[in-house]
Amino acid sequence: MPTTPEKRFIEALDTKAGAGRRIRFWLRDDDAVEPSDKLTRFLDGAGQHAIPALLAVIPQETGEALQSCLTSFGADRVRVAVHGWSHQNHAAPGEKKQELGLHRPMKTVLAELEAGLNKLACLYGEQCIPMLVPPWNRIDAALVDPLSAIGYRALSTFHDKKSGWKASHALPFHETHVDIINWKAGSIGRPSDALFNEMTGLIQSSGSDEVIGILTHHLVHDDQATGFLSRLFEITTSHAACHWIDPATLIKS
Ligand SMILES: [Zn+2]
Repeated sequence: MPTTPEKRFIEALDTKAGAGRRIRFWLRDDDAVEPSDKLTRFLDGAGQHAIPALLAVIPQETGEALQSCLTSFGADRVRVAVHGWSHQNHAAPGEKKQELGLHRPMKTVLAELEAGLNKLACLYGEQCIPMLVPPWNRIDAALVDPLSAIGYRALSTFHDKKSGWKASHALPFHETHVDIINWKAGSIGRPSDALFNEMTGLIQSSGSDEVIGILTHHLVHDDQATGFLSRLFEITTSHAACHWIDPATLIKS
């Protein structure tokens, strides 16, 4: 039988397990505002495998409808983080989209981020963790250090080649590494083979204590995206080299 990207992924996990090592996975899903069938489908899919999810919720327009939905899943299955304030782009035409830049006065941006954390903390209590997830995974470096004074304890963006600057800040970044959506191709699920190849590369290059963040966007999940997640969850929840963590444990107490 010819080998496949999925088999090579499992073999890479086997090698880790043979060396007594373990990969910690965590799941971040962005852009929740209100309940929807797509959100329920996503959370049920993760829940079938007892995988906890961190939902990055956009504070401005959200309210009790989403709160009662997420509360019904329970804090051990769904945590909530702050996804900017309104997810509005303030960058100039032609620039990369950004809500959390210096296009507006810093105090305006920070006041919104403080209001966002307060609103979600009020709605969700301890189900909300004090983590900021910048929309489009972008935040100006000048905004990072003031976040601790308004209650944030961590950030999460997407790991890329330019991620090095984040280490110079006291506030920890908990990165995601694998985006299951191809945005340039019209927001469709990426093929499973490409995703398993990418994950095999991450596992093979990882050290003894590697964390891999999986980034999802339930609102655009098609059958391909849902199918990949289901297979990933099946493989990783029954493999000795894998452990899915509660995102709340990323915040140091
Ligand atoms: Zn977003």
